[in-house]
Amino acid sequence: YLVYLHVYEFVYTFEYSFLCFILLMTFSLSRGVIEGAMMKDALKSERDLLQSLLDNIPDLIYFKNKHDKYIRVNQAFLRLLGINSAEEVCGRTDDDIFAPEFAVLLKQDDNTIRQTMKPIVGKIVQEVLADGTSRWVSMTKVPLLTETGELDKIVGISRDITDIKRTTEALEQAKIAAEAANRVKSQFLANMSHELRTPLNGIIGMLDLVKHTNSDEKKKEFVATIEKSAYELLNLLNNLLDVTDIDNEDIGLELKPFTLRDSIKKIQTIVEDKVRHRKIQFKCSIHSDVPKNLVGDSSRLNQIIMHLMDNAIKFTTTGEVGLEVSVNKEFREILLQRNDEMRNCLLQFSISDTGIGIPADKLEDIFKPFYQVDGSFTRKYGGTGIGLTIAKKMVQLMGGDIWVESDEGKGSTFHFTVLLERISDDAVNADDYPATTCIPQSFRILLVEDNTINQKVATKILEKEGHKVKVANNGVEALEMLAEDDNHFDFILMDLQMQEMDGYETTECIRSLPDFLPIKRIPIIALTAHALKADKDRCLKVGMNGFATKPIDKRQLFEVIHQVLTKEHQHA
Ligand code: ADP
Repeated sequence: YLVYLHVYEFVYTFEYSFLCFILLMTFSLSRGVIEGAMMKDALKSERDLLQSLLDNIPDLIYFKNKHDKYIRVNQAFLRLLGINSAEEVCGRTDDDIFAPEFAVLLKQDDNTIRQTMKPIVGKIVQEVLADGTSRWVSMTKVPLLTETGELDKIVGISRDITDIKRTTEALEQAKIAAEAANRVKSQFLANMSHELRTPLNGIIGMLDLVKHTNSDEKKKEFVATIEKSAYELLNLLNNLLDVTDIDNEDIGLELKPFTLRDSIKKIQTIVEDKVRHRKIQFKCSIHSDVPKNLVGDSSRLNQIIMHLMDNAIKFTTTGEVGLEVSVNKEFREILLQRNDEMRNCLLQFSISDTGIGIPADKLEDIFKPFYQVDGSFTRKYGGTGIGLTIAKKMVQLMGGDIWVESDEGKGSTFHFTVLLERISDDAVNADDYPATTCIPQSFRILLVEDNTINQKVATKILEKEGHKVKVANNGVEALEMLAEDDNHFDFILMDLQMQEMDGYETTECIRSLPDFLPIKRIPIIALTAHALKADKDRCLKVGMNGFATKPIDKRQLFEVIHQVLTKEHQHA
């Protein structure tokens, strides 16, 4: 029994231990299995995350082996190449994918990484594919090393920065343009100072001479020079105003009938006078098919021709300058094909010289504001660089074009075309000098002006022409004088900027009087130093009838007075 008991105990203990052993083994094994499964899950999710990063990121991501062959690329890479499967890229090198010059660059980068084992970060390059398409990228390449520190793979990322690059370039261009504009402005101010000083010097110098001479003959000569210099100043000022009007897109034309040959004859006289003491010949020709009478802004047309003629003379030392007027060749051919008379005519004016000429690469630039071929401070020729800009704008307004042909060192020819309406002889005569006889020859004028010097100048000019002038110092005084019974005025010359009541307000007051008061309809002509087109428009809007500028140009002033009174007379 005891033996049996011992055997039983032994078997039981062994069984129990075995069972425990089995249980332990089963438990450890299942734990390993569970842990293994969990790890697998984690790895899968890690891989999925990485994959979705690779698939969805818009940057190119790629892996290359140490022999520079692609082993893995992302979707963006495939999309760029226009292929579906990564297999088509894997095993290929940069030579197979990119344009040769770009592939060489990439190979150099890979070699650098191989030698230095250091990454290249954010290198900006223009990526060019084998088919020639290109874009700007920021490229980063990082070496992946083996445990022993040797190069195993290269991982790279390229980000498309074409838009950023374009914006940066545009900003850079804008900066360069702003700097250039600043330089041009300084140059322009320096030129302007010079251009103002020259005639001012003439005026001041001549005034001194006038004071110290007793000879009437000499006085006359000096005064003539003063007058010439003063008109030069005025011309400069008018050009500046034209540029401002052009900037404001506020430049208009005054269309009137005119006889072209008369205008050209006047220009001819002026040019002949200018070249008289120079070694320059002047040739002028008008083709026979150029219409005699036209409708257009003859004064602007003269301004363009005169500016181009002045330039031709300025830039020519010897030889000849010329003016040729013809019907534009292409236009003439169209006329011939259509075989009919057209109402409008495209005239071509060609102003030629045998002067210094213009370099071929500057032919476009000279029409830009303030541009001068010689922009140095030591330049030989005067000028402000705005004349051609004005001329171009005017020509465009007249439905034409302006261009230049030039041979550096030999001379230039400026051509411009303008579209003008042709009319019969009667139309010119009828409109040009309308109903002059009915207008009185001596006017009673109310001059509203606050500046005493201007009062004196205007009064003297008007009285010298036989007119009677009364002066009001501002709008309030003007209204009082108009209200007096014994004051009868034919018209008012109205300054604009005055204290107490300015010209606009005074005009509005007069125009808002009751209808039965004849003074409500008195012609009012602005006489002002505010000479922009916008100023003129504002004057007409508040009810003025005409607009003349200061300093007083006698011819212009009387022309305006004449026009206003003629209209009034016709309405009466
Ligand atoms: P400005 O003559 O007052 O400088 P413009 O606008 O008339 O201004 O001309 C601009 C530039 O074009 C001139 O400074 C000059 O360099 C060039 N240019 C114009 N006309 C001629 C010409 N007939 N011959 C040579 N260069 C010319």
